[in-house]
Amino acid sequence: MTATTTAPVQTTAPSAGTSSASPASPIGPDTQPGKAAKAGKADPGTPVAHRVLTGDRPTGPLHIGHYFGTLQNRVRLQAQGIEMFIVVGDYQVITDRDIADRLAEHTENLVLDNLAAGLDPDRATIFAHSRVPALNQLLLPFLSLVSVAELGRNPTVKDEIAHSSQAAVSGLMFTYPVHQAADILFCKADLVPVGQDQLPHLEVARTIARRFHERYPHADGTAVFPRPEAVLSEAPLLLGTDGGKMSKSRGNAVYLGASEDETARLIRGAKTDTDRHIAYDPANRPEVANLVLLAALCQGRSPEDVAAELGDGGAAALKRTVTESVNEFLRPVRARRTALAADRGYLRQVLRDGAERANAIADATLAEVREVMGSV
Ligand code: ATP
Ligand code: MG
Repeated sequence: MTATTTAPVQTTAPSAGTSSASPASPIGPDTQPGKAAKAGKADPGTPVAHRVLTGDRPTGPLHIGHYFGTLQNRVRLQAQGIEMFIVVGDYQVITDRDIADRLAEHTENLVLDNLAAGLDPDRATIFAHSRVPALNQLLLPFLSLVSVAELGRNPTVKDEIAHSSQAAVSGLMFTYPVHQAADILFCKADLVPVGQDQLPHLEVARTIARRFHERYPHADGTAVFPRPEAVLSEAPLLLGTDGGKMSKSRGNAVYLGASEDETARLIRGAKTDTDRHIAYDPANRPEVANLVLLAALCQGRSPEDVAAELGDGGAAALKRTVTESVNEFLRPVRARRTALAADRGYLRQVLRDGAERANAIADATLAEVREVMGSV
């Protein structure tokens, strides 16, 4: 089972500690000596010994699925004084396409979207993983810890292969969850705010951390790596306008940087159903429920309330409400985005500073890995 936690270290969050898939915390003293707090128990605002790693592929700008799926949690964890690492997975772009198109622009835009959402580069290390050689070297020992059969069973990899533009599946596509484990573990992150599609990958990272410990414990029996936990939001899988997972590569996304008119046009085109009665029924009416949830998240209300208010108003009224809610909610984010977008040099500087910090940490971790493996 995948360990997940909803809004950890946040005693005020409505669903804290109630995740359906949360076995005994894997973050114990055996894996992280000296930890100050357990997920779900620390006082907000108290500096705690957690470390967060999360990130995005530079395949396009971020969308509202990212915002409610992970960005909001990033900002919330940052506000609790937790050390943040945001990886730009630039090598991951070429898992499902031949060439990384407009890589520099997309990379800078990821910085832009993260900063516009509220990440603070003084408190968050934002870096591209291609700039951190020692992180990438962890891939080699990590690959030895998983079987080919295990990699082949990963449902997210299967889904991404189905949407890939490549005729054949590359070795990189097949192994990128292991590379992602290196992204997470190089800085010994124990919390990973992600969308639902990432849970199988988190499981790979947890397996690798555990097996690495079994094979290569420190002399005193402690582990080199913690077993990271996913942090899911209330919207771990926001659907796009076509009813599938909203993705920046699938032409179905409402981007954070979209204009208000574009947002209205995209939401007008969103898939719904023929029932005029608006209800929040994710199992039977996923597209309508998704729009209701989106309005609810923007308004800070429950989806049931939003649906009840719309009653028999039909899809057109629902879409008007969603459009107004999204545009109003995103107005300050978009204003910050526009202001920050003017200074590309600043965005590149954030990446350079982040790479410097990430390299220092990755070098230290790789040295530790070499030592426990007995390299000379
Ligand atoms: P791509 O189509 O290029 O894979 P993407 O939209 O899937 O892009 P990623 O960069 O792969 O975005 O994912 C970044 C993070 O955002 C991950 O944690 C992922 O789980 C989360 N995420 C992506 N799409 C959604 C979504 N529709 N709902 C909730 N979270 C999402
Ligand atoms: Mg993706």
